[in-house]
Amino acid sequence: MENRGETAGSVLRIEKSSIHDGDGLRTVLFLKGCPLRCLWCSTPESQRMVPERGLSREKCLRCGRCVEQCPQGALTMGEDGINFDRNRCAGCLKCASVCPSSAVVPYGKKMTANEAVCEIAKDEIFYFHSGGGLTVSGGEPLDQSGFVREVLAGCCERGIDCAIESSFFAPWEKIEPLLPYISLLHVDIKHPDAEKHKKLIGVDNGLILENIRRADGAPYDFGLVIRTPLIPGINDGDEDIVKLAEIVKGLKKLRFMEFLAYHRLGTETYKRLGLDYPLAEIKTPDAAYMRRKAAVFKSAAGVTVKINGSIFE
Ligand code: SF4
Ligand code: SF4
Repeated sequence: MENRGETAGSVLRIEKSSIHDGDGLRTVLFLKGCPLRCLWCSTPESQRMVPERGLSREKCLRCGRCVEQCPQGALTMGEDGINFDRNRCAGCLKCASVCPSSAVVPYGKKMTANEAVCEIAKDEIFYFHSGGGLTVSGGEPLDQSGFVREVLAGCCERGIDCAIESSFFAPWEKIEPLLPYISLLHVDIKHPDAEKHKKLIGVDNGLILENIRRADGAPYDFGLVIRTPLIPGINDGDEDIVKLAEIVKGLKKLRFMEFLAYHRLGTETYKRLGLDYPLAEIKTPDAAYMRRKAAVFKSAAGVTVKINGSIFE
């Protein structure tokens, strides 16, 4: 018999009342685990599938309880406070459970699909009144495709609208089972050029573009949104934007193209994880810059464009 809703997933967090991840008010199920390592990633705590521990140094009392409790020897007390060896950490989060000052920030927990659906369903009334629903995001949802399918099935049974945000860097076999359940699919094209994509992210974009074409031709009724984060000096050349337009303009299911301005909201999380912030020198582009880039795209593609959620006229 089919296992319905008992599959456990690695969940980063569940965020309520988002207005940026699809229609109406959305509950966003952020999952852990991602096969990519974008330099501009704003959620480094989502990259690894296992739970992780971050540290708010300003809250730490240096009591040493976490050091005593760590079964892996990943923590030591140094002159400047707690030292952390990420490679030794097994993600048990015992350090978080004994910390008296909430200095240890836990990132991630296991939950079954049924548990996730129950949590998501608490906001049914808001979905009903706003035309919203669930959006599954990452990390990369396709890395937990079986779990996600059970969550989507459980939500659809309750009449909750479902959407997915994905990098689409996954085998088609992980994508197709999810398509019957969704009304909207957001996919990133981080760079339209295969070689530049590979230099930036470590893999070329061939599989991603092929999956977009297959999804666009699949016999399911959902809309498609292509998103590109614009990183000044990295993927924002006009010739790249025209190339992006050539890819996007023929898509039959396309609702709109969306450009997202590079931001540095993840800076504090990098610190908590003890990681260097890779693009520290790049600034968030202003509205005029975003409009210029959107205009280049629109004149080449002739499709609706949004900038950070707002229609570009
Ligand atoms: S999560 Fe577990 S293994 Fe990792 S530092 Fe904390 S106690 Fe140690
Ligand atoms: S248990 Fe908390 S307060 Fe004590 S040393 Fe560890 S992080 Fe700091």
